[in-house]
Amino acid sequence: MDEPGALHQRNGPAAGARMHGQFTDADTGRLTHALTLSDSCLTVQNISSSSPPEHLDLRDCLWSRAHRGEDQDAYLCVYLYPYRRRWMAWGPGRQRDERRFRLALRTDDNDEDANLREAERWARAINSAQRAEHAHGVLLSEVRRPRGMMVLVNPQSGQGQAMALYNRHIQRMLTEADIPHTLFITERQNHARDLVRSADLTQWDALVVLSGDGLLFEVVNGLMDRPDWEKAIQTPLGILPGGSGNALAASVHHYTRASPVWGEDLLTSCGFLLCKGLVSKLDLVSIRLASGVRLFSFLSLAWGFVADVDIESERFRPIGALRFLLSTLLSLASLRVYQGKLAFLPAESERESSSAGWCSADSRLPDRLLVPLEQPVPQDWTQVEEQEFVLVLAMFQAHLDEDLRAAPDARVDDGLIHLFYVTGGVSRLMMLRLFRAMQSGKHLDLGCAHLVYRRARALRLEPLSTAGVMTVDGERVEYGPLQAQVHRGAARLISA
Ligand code: ADP
Ligand code: MG
Repeated sequence: MDEPGALHQRNGPAAGARMHGQFTDADTGRLTHALTLSDSCLTVQNISSSSPPEHLDLRDCLWSRAHRGEDQDAYLCVYLYPYRRRWMAWGPGRQRDERRFRLALRTDDNDEDANLREAERWARAINSAQRAEHAHGVLLSEVRRPRGMMVLVNPQSGQGQAMALYNRHIQRMLTEADIPHTLFITERQNHARDLVRSADLTQWDALVVLSGDGLLFEVVNGLMDRPDWEKAIQTPLGILPGGSGNALAASVHHYTRASPVWGEDLLTSCGFLLCKGLVSKLDLVSIRLASGVRLFSFLSLAWGFVADVDIESERFRPIGALRFLLSTLLSLASLRVYQGKLAFLPAESERESSSAGWCSADSRLPDRLLVPLEQPVPQDWTQVEEQEFVLVLAMFQAHLDEDLRAAPDARVDDGLIHLFYVTGGVSRLMMLRLFRAMQSGKHLDLGCAHLVYRRARALRLEPLSTAGVMTVDGERVEYGPLQAQVHRGAARLISA
């Protein structure tokens, strides 16, 4: 094996090569491969054929490891998940591609471990090269003491397939990436919240949810319930789509700028990002209900059409993600208009706090932009003139659902509330067109006069219609007046 910079006449390393060496194919056992590692790629040249070399992009590499085989030889394994087009699939998705090479180094009879050490040197070099790709962010592997991940699985989420998804994909990916983890299977509603509220967080590098958005909502609120909330909410969170509402997972994938993927392809993409472990800041939105209850949301707040669809779709749970489509069509048939008042603080406002401020005994993430509900909103807020709404939707991430990109410009920690509302008088046909266009995030391009989009930092919503549904992160909350304020980057998420 050669150190970087060594000269080669044939099959030699390209300029900038970190390492170069010869390996036998792990399956056939014939001496065939020359491997060259550069900062961005691993080049595999079959030296017994004239075929062109294969360039394996290290951005697609999950991890690499060395091990001793049953034959006592030393092996180098590289786990790659490149994007590939598949037969019958909509677009490219990440596909697993495992490469195994046997070291072709002749051992010194007195030193049996020389081959293994050399394979380990390669594995380390590959892992550190692919890590260099992330030099702009914080990597979990850099901040974590290797304690492992808490993986919370809701066996009832979606069509009840979350455990099967763990067994088919996630267990193997975490093992390949050498990430220890412990599985917690939730047994009831609020189980995850209780677990997280009392967990010894020094044991975990990250809290990962394999479910829909509802389970992560419990985890976030469980962390904020703790007396040590300030430290607890800094625990990196991970999301793996296993439910029927996988909006955060779809958003995280969207932020990679890759083509959209669904179902198990989305799971593979999120599993890959989880193993890569790049930690970003995540916005949280504090929501105060009239009863005094305070919630922390990472995704959305909905009233009217969107909330009705979400809750009514519960009865179609057995059909999975299609439940939202069916429920959308049914809600369109009985399109309702809700009376209410909406006001918001535009994002352009530079103000850090309102002069009245929020007076509350609760010092967790103080809502400095809000005044109590009994008082009028501050002067620099915008009061929406219309009082008839078909829907009000505040988005904190890009996706409302796996299929609906409601706020395509949203970013994980942009510090913005992407506020949409549709006023009364909109036709059913236009609503259908809006939701179809939302699948590709193009709904604002339709020029619908009833659809308004504003960027805000805080909002107040006061329903006047007596009956209705309000949801936060897809979970139903008590119906009535509420206020919200965004807290930029208050939590942390393993993201792109
Ligand atoms: P989905 O996207 O399918 O709705 P969620 O993750 O949103 O999946 O979960 C829905 C709800 O299921 C959450 O409110 C959570 O509290 C609840 N839950 C968690 N574990 C269980 C369980 N074992 N049985 C029933 N409900 C559960
Ligand atoms: Mg849900």
